[in-house]
Amino acid sequence: MRPSVPSLLRRSVPRSATSSRIAFNVARPATSSTSSSFLLHRRPYSTPSSSSSSSTSSPPRACWSCHQPCPPTTPLCSSCSAIQPVLPTSEGGPNLFQLLGLPEKGSFAIDEGALKLAFLRGSKDVHPDGFKGKGEIEYQLAQHQASILNKAYYTLKDPLPRAQYLLSLSNVEVQESDSITDQSLLMEIMEAREALDDAESEEEVESLREEHREKAKQAVKQLGLAFEKGDLQRAKDLCTELRYWDKAGEAGKDKVHPVD
Ligand SMILES: [Zn+2]
Repeated sequence: MRPSVPSLLRRSVPRSATSSRIAFNVARPATSSTSSSFLLHRRPYSTPSSSSSSSTSSPPRACWSCHQPCPPTTPLCSSCSAIQPVLPTSEGGPNLFQLLGLPEKGSFAIDEGALKLAFLRGSKDVHPDGFKGKGEIEYQLAQHQASILNKAYYTLKDPLPRAQYLLSLSNVEVQESDSITDQSLLMEIMEAREALDDAESEEEVESLREEHREKAKQAVKQLGLAFEKGDLQRAKDLCTELRYWDKAGEAGKDKVHPVD
């Protein structure tokens, strides 16, 4: 029987590198309230356990292959190009923004085109197919790097998960169970849902869907302003509002294209 990749990795790691812990097995829980490593623990991004990241001053790790120092936030060794294990953010590994070449503290305003380009370039660098001939260790590491990069992109490309992630970096958690406290807004949303339920023609549904899309767009705009002002409570409330409008949008979609 072939040894598992983690055990192969452990054998390959020089003693000098153990201080930065080769962390192929990323599924362990965060151990303290100061951990900011949820990203690398394969939890849903909407339920991070983290506090703010402080990885900028992290020392380089040793490359598992050539043992030269290697920045903890880059996927490939700068000396020998061997693909590296993903480090938890608590150990100096990259957060979602850094994975896509953005500043560590991130921002809500994002150039979607540049984000996509960074994702495509990064995916090319770590695509598992490129490591097929390099042995099991590198192939498995590439699969993991590619999957983390994928999650980073799909979390940051859309406004709601991006806002939630950004808030999580400041220890503000948005829960699925959060409800709207602004009574007039709540009423507006309930009425919108009722109107959708009552709509009888496709034109009527389409017109309501367009209204919901516009409301969602306005909430995204307000979110940008809230983050600009550093008003995190407002940003959190807007995340909840946006989720409601998104749900209304989904309901409208189901009404036009019901699942058989
Ligand atoms: Zn190396």
